[in-house]
Amino acid sequence: MVTRTLNLVEFRQVPFREFVGPRLEAAFSTLIAEGALRLDFSGASTDSLYQLTFVVTHNWTPIDRDRHWYRPLTAGVTGRVDVEKMRRRNFCTDVADAASCEAVARELPRELGQSIVYTAAHEAGHILGLESGGVDGSAHVGDAGNFMFINSLHADFVPLMDDFRRTRRYRIRPGDSLSRIADHIGFRPPLANWTALYNFRGQDGRRNRDLLRSGNPNLIFPNEEIWVPDYVARRAYFREVEICDKRFTPEQVATMRRFLAIGLPIDGIPI
Ligand SMILES: [Zn+2]
Repeated sequence: MVTRTLNLVEFRQVPFREFVGPRLEAAFSTLIAEGALRLDFSGASTDSLYQLTFVVTHNWTPIDRDRHWYRPLTAGVTGRVDVEKMRRRNFCTDVADAASCEAVARELPRELGQSIVYTAAHEAGHILGLESGGVDGSAHVGDAGNFMFINSLHADFVPLMDDFRRTRRYRIRPGDSLSRIADHIGFRPPLANWTALYNFRGQDGRRNRDLLRSGNPNLIFPNEEIWVPDYVARRAYFREVEICDKRFTPEQVATMRRFLAIGLPIDGIPI
C-alpha cells in the first residue's frame, strides 16, 4: 500500500495546535493506522498530491473594521482553512456597539480550536474524495456529529429572516426609526434593509407591520414593541452545532480509502 501524505501548510501558525493536531489525527485515525494516510504537520511535503493550507491573516477592509454584524462567512474551501474568518463569525445585538458582539467560536480550545478541527477535517475530507453524494450531492450532511456537516442542512436550521422562533421584543425609543433600528440590528445591505424588519415575524407569528399601530412604516411611536432577531439564541444554536465533537462514518472512510488508493488529486470545488 502506498502511504499518501496530506501536507498541512502553515499549520505552525494555527492557534491551539496542541489541541487541534491530535484531534485531526483522530479524525483520520483509521486511515492513518492502516498506513493509507499520513498527516505532515510540518508542511514540508511539497510534492504531496494533497495539500491543506491554513490562513491566519486577513486583509481588513474599512467595512470589516467598522461593522461588526454577523456574516455567514465560509471559513473553508477545498484545500484551505481560514482561521481569521472563523474568528470573524460573530453575532452582535447592536452592530454599533462592538461590546455586544461575541464570536460563535470564542478563543478557547474547545471552541475556536474545535472549529478549526471541524473545518480542517471537512476540507481534508473533500480533498480525499468526499465530493459527491451526501444530502446535497456535494458530500455534505445535516448530522452535526459528522465532519461533513453544514448547518444549512441541519433539521433546525432556519434562515435569519424566517427564524421567528429565535426572536425577542424591542421597545421603540424616542428618535427611533425603522431604518435606524434595522441598521443597528444588522439588517443592512447586502443582507437586508428596513423593509425586512417591517415584515419580520416574531414568536407569536405576527409581523411587525401588523404590530405597529399607525400602519405607516414612517410613523412609529416610543414604547411600541416590535420583534427583532434574538442573536444570543441564534449564536448559541450555531455554537452548539458547529463545535460539537464530530467524526466520519465508516462509509465516508471507505470512500477516502478508495480515493487514496487511486491517488487522484482533487479537481472539484465543493465548499
Ligand atoms: Zn464542504
